[in-house]
Amino acid sequence: MLYDVIVVGSGIAGLAAAIRAGENYANVLLLTKNMPLRSNSSMAAGGINASFANMEPDDYRAHLADTIKGGDGLVEERSAATLTKNGVDVVSWLDGLGANFDKDENGKILQRAFGGAGKKRTCFVADKTGGAIVQAMIMSLKGKNIKVVSDYCVMSLLVDEERAAGVSALNKKTCQIELFGAKSVVFAGGGYGGVYFGHTSNPLDSVGDLLSVALRAGLGLRDMEFMQFHPTGLWHSGSLVSEAVRGEGGYIVNAKGDRFTNELATRDVLSRAIAREMEQGGGVYIDVRHIEPEILEKRVPSFIRAAMSQEGKDVTKELVPIKPVAHYSMGGIAVNEKCETQIKGLYAAGECACNGTHGANRLGGNSLLEAAVFGRIAGEEASAYAKKQTGYLKADLTIVAKDEKRIENILKGEAGANPRAVRKSLGDAMYKNVGLFRTEEGLMRGYEYTGYLKGVAGMMSAMEKKREGNFEVPFILELQNAALIAEATVLAALKREESRGAHFRDDFGVRDDNRFKAHSIVKMDGMRLFHRFEERGVFAAIKHFIRR
Ligand SMILES: Cc1cc2nc3c(=O)[nH]c(=O)nc-3n(C[C@H](O)[C@H](O)[C@H](O)COP(=O)(O)OP(=O)(O)OC[C@H]3O[C@@H](n4cnc5c(N)ncnc54)[C@H](O)[C@@H]3O)c2cc1C
Repeated sequence: MLYDVIVVGSGIAGLAAAIRAGENYANVLLLTKNMPLRSNSSMAAGGINASFANMEPDDYRAHLADTIKGGDGLVEERSAATLTKNGVDVVSWLDGLGANFDKDENGKILQRAFGGAGKKRTCFVADKTGGAIVQAMIMSLKGKNIKVVSDYCVMSLLVDEERAAGVSALNKKTCQIELFGAKSVVFAGGGYGGVYFGHTSNPLDSVGDLLSVALRAGLGLRDMEFMQFHPTGLWHSGSLVSEAVRGEGGYIVNAKGDRFTNELATRDVLSRAIAREMEQGGGVYIDVRHIEPEILEKRVPSFIRAAMSQEGKDVTKELVPIKPVAHYSMGGIAVNEKCETQIKGLYAAGECACNGTHGANRLGGNSLLEAAVFGRIAGEEASAYAKKQTGYLKADLTIVAKDEKRIENILKGEAGANPRAVRKSLGDAMYKNVGLFRTEEGLMRGYEYTGYLKGVAGMMSAMEKKREGNFEVPFILELQNAALIAEATVLAALKREESRGAHFRDDFGVRDDNRFKAHSIVKMDGMRLFHRFEERGVFAAIKHFIRR
C-alpha cells in the first residue's frame, strides 16, 4: 500500500496535517491506533488561545510574551512566534470547519481567562472545546483524498538511505504486522502523560509510542524532564477539572475553606502550592459555590457531571476534592519550527514533538493551538516534500523482522507478571520519584526501578496465545514503550540539576542559567539511553541525518 503522505495519529495535530496535505493534492493515509474520535484532543476541555482581542486589547506580541514568560527561559522564540502569529487564523479556520466556538450576540468569539495569560485569550466551546474541534475536522475529511484506517499501532519507521519510506504497524485485530509505504511521514502520536498511570489526566494508552519509535530509529528526544502537572485533577480518578473552572471564577481552598494561592498562576506554581498545602495534612478542594448555577451549567457542564459521577459531589453545594496530576508533555521528538526531524521525509507535530514552543512549561490553551498550527505546517511540508520525490523507496526489512520478533516473544512463553499491575507500579514510581518535587536520591531510585521494569516488560508474555483479537499484545507493546519513555524522562530529570518550569528539584531549588539554559537530548544506542545538553536555537536549521 503506497501513499504520498502517511500521517500517524488522529488528534488535532494529525487531522490538521492530513487536511493540509489533502488540500495540497497529496494521496494521504491517516493511521490511528484507536477509533479516530479517541484522542487526548477529543478530551480537551477549556479552550484554545488566539489573540482576537474580543474581550480586551490584545495582540500576538502579548501572547508571545506570555508564552515566553511561562516557558521559564527555554522557549524557542521562532517556534513560539509561529504559534502565536497563527492563532487568529487557525482558530477562525477551525470555526469555519464547524467547531462553532461560543460567541456573543454580535457573533464575536468569546474568550476566557487562563493561567499565566495576561489577557482573556482562550476561545472555547463550553468545556468541550477539543471534542468540538475534532468532530468538525473529521467531518471535513470527507471528499478529500484521505483514507482513514483505525486500530493500527505503528511500531517502526521504515527508512531507506536515511530517508523515511513508510511505517510498519500492528493490526490490532489480527496481531499481524503490515507495511505502509509513503514518500513522507508525519508523526502526530500525542504525549506520554499516561506513563504516570494512576496519577494522570491522560488515558492509559498515552505512553508516547511514537517517541519510542523515534528513539529506536536513532532520533533524539528533547526536554523529556518537563512533564507538566495540572493542579486540578479529581481526587479519585485523576480526571481533569479544566482550567476553565478557575477561569470562570472557581476558588482553590484548603480543608478550612480558606483560599491560599492565586488560582490563575501558571500550572507549575499552582501545582506546587497545592502539593505543599496537601503535605500539611487535610485536603485541597475546588469551590464554585459562589458562581451562579446557570453560568456553571452553560460554561462548565462537563465539570458538574464529572464531580457528581466520579466524586459524588454536587458542585453548587459542596467542595470537590482535587490533587495535581501529570497532564502534558513538553518533551518530545526533536524538531524545528517546520516540523522537520533529522530523518529526511519524517515530520512530527503536536504533543509528540518538541520544537521548544513551550520551553519548560506550557500555558493552558496553547497546546490545542500548537497541535493545529504545527499540524498544518507538518502537512504542508510533508506534502511539498512528497511532491519532489520521483518514486517510492525500498523498505529496510530488518526493522520489520525485529517488530515481528517482538510480537513472537510476547506470544511465546509462560505469562508471568500482570501487565496492568506493572503499569500501575510504573505510574506510582514515576509520581513518587519523578513528580512535582524531585531529588537526586529519588531520581536515582526511579532510574533503577524504571530500568528494572523495562526489563520485566521486555520479557513479558501474553496469557492468550492466538493472534486473532488478542488485545494483550498491543497492551504489552504499550507497556514496553511506557517503560522506555519513563527511563528517558528520569534520565533527563537526573541530569538537570536546577529548578525550572515544571521541573522542580528540592536539592537544586533555583534556576541556573549558567549551566542549564539548554535543551536536554536523550538518544538510544542498542538498548542504552544517553543524555546530553543542546544549545538553544541550534536546531532552527536542522541537519539531516543521524541514524547510526
Ligand atoms: C483531559 C485533557 C484536557 C485538556 N484540555 C486542554 C485544553 O483545554 N486546552 C489545550 O490547549 N490543551 C488541552 N489539553 C492538552 C491537549 O489536549 C493535547 O496536548 C493535544 O490535544 C495533543 O494533540 P495531538 O494531536 O498532538 O495528540 P493526541 O490528541 O493525543 O492524539 C494522538 C493520536 O495518536 C494516536 N497514536 C498514538 N500512538 C499511536 C501509534 N503507535 N500508532 C497509531 N496511532 C497512534 C492516538 O490514538 C491519537 O489518535 C488537554 C489534555 C487532556 C488529557
